[in-house]
Amino acid sequence: MKGFGIRNEMNGVEEPPGKTWFWELEAGVIDADRCIQCGTCVAVCPSNSIGVDLETNLPELVKLCTGCSLCWDYCPRGGLRYESLWPPSTPAPDAPDTPVVVKSDSADPYWKLTGGPPADGLGAVVEQYAVRAGARPDGAQDGGIVTAILLAAMAAGDIDGAVVSKPSPDPEEPWKGIATLATTAKELIDAAGSFYNQTMALAELDLSGTDLPARPRLAVVGTPCEIQGIRAMQARRWSGGTGAHRVDAVVLTIALLCTKSFDYEALMLRELRDKRGLDLDRVAKVDVIHGRMIVEYIDGQVAVDEPIKDFHGAALKGCDECADFLGRSADISVGSVGSIRNWSSVLVRTEAGRLALERARGRLDLRTLDDPAALLRLDALDKRIAERTLQRKLDPDAPLFMEYAEHVANYQGTDRAPVVRDR
Ligand SMILES: Cc1cc2nc3c(=O)[nH]c(=O)nc-3n(C[C@H](O)[C@H](O)[C@H](O)COP(=O)(O)OP(=O)(O)OC[C@H]3O[C@@H](n4cnc5c(N)ncnc54)[C@H](O)[C@@H]3O)c2cc1C
Ligand code: SF4
Ligand code: SF4
Repeated sequence: MKGFGIRNEMNGVEEPPGKTWFWELEAGVIDADRCIQCGTCVAVCPSNSIGVDLETNLPELVKLCTGCSLCWDYCPRGGLRYESLWPPSTPAPDAPDTPVVVKSDSADPYWKLTGGPPADGLGAVVEQYAVRAGARPDGAQDGGIVTAILLAAMAAGDIDGAVVSKPSPDPEEPWKGIATLATTAKELIDAAGSFYNQTMALAELDLSGTDLPARPRLAVVGTPCEIQGIRAMQARRWSGGTGAHRVDAVVLTIALLCTKSFDYEALMLRELRDKRGLDLDRVAKVDVIHGRMIVEYIDGQVAVDEPIKDFHGAALKGCDECADFLGRSADISVGSVGSIRNWSSVLVRTEAGRLALERARGRLDLRTLDDPAALLRLDALDKRIAERTLQRKLDPDAPLFMEYAEHVANYQGTDRAPVVRDR
């Protein structure tokens, strides 16, 4: 625990009551292998005391901790009750019978990890579509819709930039995504596509070295946990400000649907390059779809097509505790599940999201979402895994109720009925 080194420097200083220190986050989340590398703790720290360890991609203390407790309070794997940020579900217009359950902010730990029972709808949804960009960028993951929305927002002057992910410039790190603030159309297009590693994205909200206007307006694209961090910081203001990080500048949030993310070295280097002999310089696309890891080379050859369970050891352990597959607190959620290949499933959740999609309309093909039920099934799976993870924390001998891969196959297939066992 590096934080303890700095703590030693404070020896002799009497500790005021009621403090929560960084090293408590370090012990309970980071060293416990539960950190999902969202960067919220970095962004929330009012004294800029938390940085990113570039070797591990984990938070580290870089200055004295004041014990203000904010890093713990806002951490999705720490004190944050992220499910309390979810607006109540709304029935989808084309599926009025979808069950709707208004969220409870119960003190029950079951809610903390599962966000409530499965089958409670898609969250707040004002519009839902299958969408494809008219001019789909080369590197786009699915319909290229995230990039199209950002391009339209920037062209209209609605945003000055967007926190997205681009390839690491380090040749030793092929296919590693790193967070970046894109301020031009070219930078947005170059950042299209998915990286299956977390980027500590919210640390990128430190705008001190940029020449953005004094009152910048930004979009953030992130996994649902990253959007949880933004939403929490915006919804629950605290005195002392956010240091160098401009949480107030974020006017649009786009969540990428997500059941799990991976450790870069474990997935790309150890599993794909070293164990399976992949030439990462020839890779054109990495995808996790229908319960399988699929890697395609530039010449169209499928280099890997294996059950995702084979890569479970490379996944971030903290993702097993996550129940927010659908990115419920975002303005817009986007994913591949629920739509056919090269289209994206889009859930518009707020007025800001609706306006952003409206801006991009001229650049998009829109049609009815192919299979909204597939989204519900995968959401239910995600919550059940989170629930089971909690049960195993309480009772380490509790059996897994179904193999993970079997679940994914059952829930992600758009043409198969889910297999659900009673709890
Ligand atoms: C870790 C991860 C897991 C996912 N799991 C699922 C899933 O289980 N089911 C599903 O339906 N969809 C999942 N997705 C979403 C899917 O891969 C696509 O990102 C989504 O469909 C949008 O595609 P698009 O073509 O519209 O976006 P594009 O136009 O290609 O734009 C994608 C945007 O996302 C940004 N981005 C890429 N990687 C990251 C990252 N790691 N962190 C933050 N921003 C990033 C890019 O910079 C770009 O701005 C996942 C994405 C990620 C990153
Ligand atoms: S999960 Fe996020 S907020 Fe928590 S320690 Fe990791 S980076 Fe920080
Ligand atoms: S599964 Fe959840 S915790 Fe893990 S990266 Fe995705 S949104 Fe974050």
